[in-house]
Amino acid sequence: MKGRQLLMIPGPIEFTPEVLRAMGMSTTSHVAPDFIQVFGQALEQLRQVFLCPHGQPFVIAGSGTLAMDIAAANLIEPGDQALVVNTGYFSDRFATILERYGAAVTQVQAPSIGDAPPLEAVEAALKANTYKLMTITHVDTSTAVGVDLQSLAALGQNQGALVVVDGVCSVAGEEMHQEAWGIDLALTASQKAIGVPPGLALLVAGPRAMEAFRRRKSPVGNYYADWKEWLPIMEAYQAGRPSYFGTPPVNLIWALNVSLGQVLEEGMEARFARHRRLSEAFKAAITALGLKQVPVSPNRAATTLTAPYYPQGVGPELLGRANAAGAILAGGLHPAIKGQYFRVGHMGAVSASDILATIGAIEQGLAQSGYKFEPGIGLAAAQSILTQ
Ligand code: PMP
Repeated sequence: MKGRQLLMIPGPIEFTPEVLRAMGMSTTSHVAPDFIQVFGQALEQLRQVFLCPHGQPFVIAGSGTLAMDIAAANLIEPGDQALVVNTGYFSDRFATILERYGAAVTQVQAPSIGDAPPLEAVEAALKANTYKLMTITHVDTSTAVGVDLQSLAALGQNQGALVVVDGVCSVAGEEMHQEAWGIDLALTASQKAIGVPPGLALLVAGPRAMEAFRRRKSPVGNYYADWKEWLPIMEAYQAGRPSYFGTPPVNLIWALNVSLGQVLEEGMEARFARHRRLSEAFKAAITALGLKQVPVSPNRAATTLTAPYYPQGVGPELLGRANAAGAILAGGLHPAIKGQYFRVGHMGAVSASDILATIGAIEQGLAQSGYKFEPGIGLAAAQSILTQ
């Protein structure tokens, strides 16, 4: 027995051996010449992965929530108006963070769980007020809902709001062209489609976001998050100079540089296409097995994860059974439907055989749970797409 399951949750994910080797190497000084060069290269590669050639990247120790906190701390001043396009749990979180820094937050809610607010509703909200910024959760990991990011960002740009995207469950998996789509700030965390163990908050701020920061009248209300401290550090690493504000997570940054190199070697368009194809195969299996999904329609569904409802007579015990059969899956997260569904991440270095192994483990778990289906029907549905 191999004694190791596939980690198929929506982050952290399975990492490549090269990334894990970088995590295990001897730690260098944060001002060693080779580390300075690697940090600078990672910053440049981030611009390419976010498809934002004129952006300013920030790499800071912390999780995705810190990246959200950094965005709000630096862009919001007390009394600013902010609009949240709400698709679930992580949009709620962004609203809370914005309010913590003094924003007056308006939310456009999705009509139901598993849906996204209609574009017309977002446009009407933007026209009804003057917003300093709007936030969009590209993929809400609680519901597996993916939004029409390009159209939403265009609405924000047209109405003069800074467009801020929570791309924690999307960047380097779901299609996003930060600069071309008019996204002023995109953020993510290392442990998802970027493919590095948890611990890095990653942001790329475009020129309009940096300008809004420079024009602030009040100081940033968070010492650790303040771009005034971090911008000179990022600029120093970009220029190949040593600098210090807070000790960077050296091994994570070595690993980040390796992973970004692998992402770019695959190519962004090829990577987006692979995520679409694997997602389509996995979702076809779920449908063939008779399970419904949380997103209300296929064009609302993300490609980085899938959120199936448990079928009649089956509940969270499925997760333990799938785990014993080799795949670690995640339970529900949205508080209103938490016990009714589960989540499967398929992003980053995930392969077609990981997808098939996971479907096999789900079929075994369903069978042990007494669910009636034709064994292999999910696998066949996925294979019919994967072999095309
Ligand atoms: N936003 C989204 C869309 C997420 O999926 C997550 C994490 N699942 C976060 C924010 C928060 O990231 P972290 O858990 O790394 O703080």
